[in-house]
Amino acid sequence: WKHALGSLPELARHARNHGDHTFTIHEDERISYESWFRATRALAAELAAMGIGKGDRVGLAMRNLPEWPVAFFAVTSLGAIIVPLNAWWTGAELAYGLKDSGARALICDAERWDRIGPEANGLPDLKHVLVCRGDAAPDAPARRLEDLIGTPDRYPGLPEGDLPDADLAPDDPATIFYTSGTTGNPKGALGTHRNILTNILSSAFSAARACLRRGEVPPAPTPKVMLTIIPLFHVTACNAGLMGGIFAGHTMVFMPKWDVVKAFQIIEREKVNTTGGVPTIAWQLIEHPDRTKYDLSSLEAIAYGGAPSAPELVRKIKQVFGALPGNGWGMTETSATVTSHSAEDYLNRPDSCGPPVAVSDIKIMAPDGGRELPVGEVGELWARGPQIVTGYWNNPEATAETFVDGWIRTGDLARVDAEGFCYIVDRAKDMIIRGGENIYSSEVENVLYEHPAVTDAALVGIPHRTLGEEPAAVVHLAPGESVSEEELKAWVRQRLAIFKTPVRILFSGETLPRNANGKIVKTELKPLFETEQA
Ligand code: ATP
Ligand code: MG
Repeated sequence: WKHALGSLPELARHARNHGDHTFTIHEDERISYESWFRATRALAAELAAMGIGKGDRVGLAMRNLPEWPVAFFAVTSLGAIIVPLNAWWTGAELAYGLKDSGARALICDAERWDRIGPEANGLPDLKHVLVCRGDAAPDAPARRLEDLIGTPDRYPGLPEGDLPDADLAPDDPATIFYTSGTTGNPKGALGTHRNILTNILSSAFSAARACLRRGEVPPAPTPKVMLTIIPLFHVTACNAGLMGGIFAGHTMVFMPKWDVVKAFQIIEREKVNTTGGVPTIAWQLIEHPDRTKYDLSSLEAIAYGGAPSAPELVRKIKQVFGALPGNGWGMTETSATVTSHSAEDYLNRPDSCGPPVAVSDIKIMAPDGGRELPVGEVGELWARGPQIVTGYWNNPEATAETFVDGWIRTGDLARVDAEGFCYIVDRAKDMIIRGGENIYSSEVENVLYEHPAVTDAALVGIPHRTLGEEPAAVVHLAPGESVSEEELKAWVRQRLAIFKTPVRILFSGETLPRNANGKIVKTELKPLFETEQA
């Protein structure tokens, strides 16, 4: 070993020591760490034979399947760059990711190949396609992954041996993850081995620090059962969940399609200890009427991040599951977590996303980037640390705008309290300015969430001739609940300054539109008001 965990294949070698312990569970497929390592090695050899090597990009487009971590480590062990693509994307969007990254090879499931296949003509760089979990033999140039390394039940019979030695350094590129595209076109964040592996350290340190704050001795890490609900093509699931899980020897239960009742069944059957991902999933676990029919007592922690969450949620998690709630702030560009919050700290400050993790610094800057703001003032959040990527793939302009003097300008508005706890108030792009008064959407949304009938709420700005913008809200109510627009407006008015009260509140019959990372897509909500005004 050249570096103590300086590269992803070194993590894979470490994880091999977990041996026969179960690594992934997907329906009735249980794969041990040793079997996963053998499959990874076999796939790495096949990819090397295709000429894939250092710096080549390889797309990975599939749901959360056991083949995902096999492909991830096979590609990165060669020094090639893995490009996890959003499985929700259409054929054209997937083709955009493959084209933008210049992928030479693609590993995908049959459903993704059905979408990408028709676009393949426009992808001259794409020379090799490996498709898993398809019935019929797909069209050339695609080959069946199973023909190369077998189906998961065959992995134990694959030959032993080590991963190739690609002579990797911690700062070699390893991944291109695309941002969620909430505010524009998805951008490819280029992460290094060090960026990814830092998440393992920082979450271990943060967990220990949270225990020490409570006056408890941090427990020795023990293998847990994690239910991985959110997609692995997002940094939270991959760089925090999967990497931390592999390091500690956790068992990861995959759920390729989200279904609340199925989640209950899995938690009961596999005695799941931790789950979460995004706030909306935690809400669904809490609110489902069948929850009490299942034994969910194994749950120890429910943690999430990636999107704003209402303070209400923290209390509910503790009340309903007796589990420890956790929240973390991060971006695709920070390769997972920058601030992290849990347990009593979180219960005491339910509107915070926690202090920075041990390896990171944060600061609040005036919107023009000219000076640092004092404690308590709202400004743009800047962050730095060894987990933050150095730039965007193929996008020097965006890189120059976002990465400044070793810091990342996050585009989020936040404040930090005297004890260093960070509070996200809005995205700079979502903040509403009504006649010169700033309105942060999370503040109004949180008040709406506190109303017992409301389960989903979003505040958007709608154009106004003289004021510039006015706040308007879209809400979704719990089944069987009813409340009038006037009552809800009064609810907000009693709790916040009058200029923050939405001038219009629309009721959506369905939950609000979200992207694959559980974020409400506000650009889809604004037109609802335009149609109204027309
Ligand atoms: P794009 O950059 O393409 O517009 P995106 O910013 O939604 O999309 P991600 O990198 O997935 O893409 O998300 C990062 C953003 O998610 C952060 O900038 C922040 O706005 C939001 N976010 C992440 N964690 C939290 C959290 N714990 N609380 C509130 N907001 C969060
Ligand atoms: Mg972003």
